[in-house]
Amino acid sequence: MKILTKDKKGVLIVISAFGGAGKGTIIKELIKDEHTILSVSATSRVPRPDDEEGVTYFFKTREEFENMIRGNELLEWVEFCGNYYGTPRSYIEDKLLANENVILELEEVGAIKVKEMYKDAVLIFILPPNMNELISRLKKRGENDEYISKRLKKSIDEAELIKHYEYVVVNDILEDTVEDIKKIIYVAKSKVAKNQKLIDDIKEELKNVTTII
Ligand code: 5GP
Repeated sequence: MKILTKDKKGVLIVISAFGGAGKGTIIKELIKDEHTILSVSATSRVPRPDDEEGVTYFFKTREEFENMIRGNELLEWVEFCGNYYGTPRSYIEDKLLANENVILELEEVGAIKVKEMYKDAVLIFILPPNMNELISRLKKRGENDEYISKRLKKSIDEAELIKHYEYVVVNDILEDTVEDIKKIIYVAKSKVAKNQKLIDDIKEELKNVTTII
């Protein structure tokens, strides 16, 4: 008799947050799971001290980025706070088919575009526990006051788009936040629509056993 297992296809997880809500740290924890990877975006922004080429982003000049747009190399792209950001198209679908959960770390406009293309993408919005924490995280990151003020003002518009997400998680205690997101991934993987092959297999098995008995 056949062993019934869940369908082998990873989940596309889109994570967004206000700048300084701590999503980078959360994602670092999530990708410790051997079946969860982060898709690395391309950007024209200047690297920060903790950035690493090919790990946090692929850093491009504006001209190089515009060539990627023209070459249809990006699944989605936006201009955010004066810089380009985009998701390289190659690689995501292959990884999903190989049963890898793929995390995209996107601002809201890109997240909504991805949901239009991949209906079963899971959109998660991370909230800070309070505003002081948000400001202090931005300061710790070494951002100047002008950029902090720009990001906070941008957060007002961003908050309007949270209604397009399916889940919100408050990042207070890191371990709890990571566990909450893992539970969301588990739920997404358990959806009927994601397990059609498993359901077809069980129907087939039922027909087989009823003919034996
Ligand atoms: P940061 O400069 O702080 O690394 O990122 C600025 C914003 O751009 C964040 O909200 C981040 O999630 C978003 N972002 C990073 N990569 C991409 C991408 O490929 N596409 C879109 N739409 N947003 C991105």
